[in-house]
Amino acid sequence: MSRISRRDFVTRSGSCAAHLALAAAVAPDALRTAWARASLGTVVAREPFGSLEQVADGIWALISTPLGGDRTTLSNGGIISGRSGVIAVEGFNQAAGAAWLAAKSRELTGRWPTYVVVTHYHADHANGVAGYLSSESSAGKPTVRTTERTRDLVLQKNQPADDARASALQQSVLLPSSEPTTIDLGNRRVRIVPRSGHTDSDVSLEIEDPSVVFCGDLVWNAMFPNYVDAVPSRLAVSVKALRRDRKTIYVPGHGALAREAEFDRYASMLAEVEQAARKAHQAGTSASDAGAAFTLPASLGEWTLFNKVFFERAFGAWYRELGG
Ligand SMILES: [Zn+2]
Repeated sequence: MSRISRRDFVTRSGSCAAHLALAAAVAPDALRTAWARASLGTVVAREPFGSLEQVADGIWALISTPLGGDRTTLSNGGIISGRSGVIAVEGFNQAAGAAWLAAKSRELTGRWPTYVVVTHYHADHANGVAGYLSSESSAGKPTVRTTERTRDLVLQKNQPADDARASALQQSVLLPSSEPTTIDLGNRRVRIVPRSGHTDSDVSLEIEDPSVVFCGDLVWNAMFPNYVDAVPSRLAVSVKALRRDRKTIYVPGHGALAREAEFDRYASMLAEVEQAARKAHQAGTSASDAGAAFTLPASLGEWTLFNKVFFERAFGAWYRELGG
């Protein structure tokens, strides 16, 4: 992958894809291999762009490992299967990523996906969605589900536009933005819950038993998140709502699978940013100065931070809320 300049990054940063592209350009080799090794589930397929891990009976998570430079997928996603259907989670960065996950669904469950859920508009989660419709599955294409806001943002913001993507989204079944939707897969019910904070419209996919939550980009594991579209106070509310009080596997939008410890570390990290941003705002320090001076406490462990601009952006998001 070619190195991306800071200016390129800033101008192309309408999605987490650019965030990750910059990350890949500067990540040390040790980190790349550590990420690829950190699996919590049983790995059933390994590709240059990610690993498919079984997290429970009938549930698999694709953990993307984009730091090696393969951009087929950049975000995480997955497969949730039941007796009467299969949900594919995320549209991925490229159609080839979606087609790959569809083929894995067929291989592992005997079915092509019957539903596709795109959690938010960012290119790395949405742009490959047409790949589900072009796979060999002539019998019954999956219906794509997004909120209206997510669909509109993909169509408006993810450039260059692509006819196949636009057509897949125009045919999508819209998820209500005010209340959860349940998809009944026969022996398994999956709740799709509208949330926000990472973008104006995010959804999570939530399963009770086994307790598994696909968090979209509301949760990142061991990697400092992209605040480019964030409303941090809403993000904090969403993160709190996602946390369960029992043993749960959280599939983050980026990074390895998380248990309670990793989830709580992420929540503490967000709180640390909030506290520092409020303090700096009150002191009249600019967001860029405050971001440049900020460090995360060692007690929060290792966080992959690729450029100080990410801290500045987080402070900037808080300042938008706090005023000034
Ligand atoms: Zn995102």
